[in-house]
Amino acid sequence: MLDPQRLPGPVWVVAPHPDDEALGCGGLLSALSELGREIHALLMTDGGASHPNSARFPGPILAQQRLGEWRSGLGALGVAAQQSVSLGLADGDLIRCSPLSVRHAIEQAWAPTSPATLLLPWRRDPHTDHRACWLHFEPLLAQVPYVLEYTVWLPERSQPADWPRPEEQLSELFFQPTTSQQDRKAAAIAMHRSQLGMIDDDPFGFVLPDDMVQRAVKEPERFFVSSTVAHVLTAP
Ligand SMILES: [Zn+2]
Repeated sequence: MLDPQRLPGPVWVVAPHPDDEALGCGGLLSALSELGREIHALLMTDGGASHPNSARFPGPILAQQRLGEWRSGLGALGVAAQQSVSLGLADGDLIRCSPLSVRHAIEQAWAPTSPATLLLPWRRDPHTDHRACWLHFEPLLAQVPYVLEYTVWLPERSQPADWPRPEEQLSELFFQPTTSQQDRKAAAIAMHRSQLGMIDDDPFGFVLPDDMVQRAVKEPERFFVSSTVAHVLTAP
């Protein structure tokens, strides 16, 4: 079991889309904010591709809506809006963004306060943007003392090859949020109304499945970390 007291600040959490941080590690973020850790959030894409056929929420309007939802969700977890940075990259197309320019943007975001702890989506989380996100960060990871890869879609969508491999030398750690932390996580997820059925003019638009949300709130959060640091992060 992961002990949040052992994670030093500043903490940076990276979300490929608005809502990933709430779904994947909202309980841990809530615990870290209770501990008074300095937390920053970095949003990679604008989230504007979830409802491509909506006339009421065309891409740029949807991106604005989702940025507002993201900041409200972070607020529910104790992360202030001024501690958040959005890169506004193309939703669904992160893999085609220039690695050099993305790396430059990340370094600029970090420049005032670089992470001691980094919460990043699992390198093979089953979503192309989540995997691309990890690839963009890979060259920077050696600079960060503690890197925890959080999981979003692994239980619902994974193939066996998506899980850690022995040669990667990773350990699996779980965090069980308290009831009040679960409540704040659920409140943060609920802020993402555009992903929960609010947009009703696109029959092919994305809706977070209710059973996935229930699982994300109720079950322990799952992280993968380097086996060389895992023992430092667990309670004795
Ligand atoms: Zn996502």
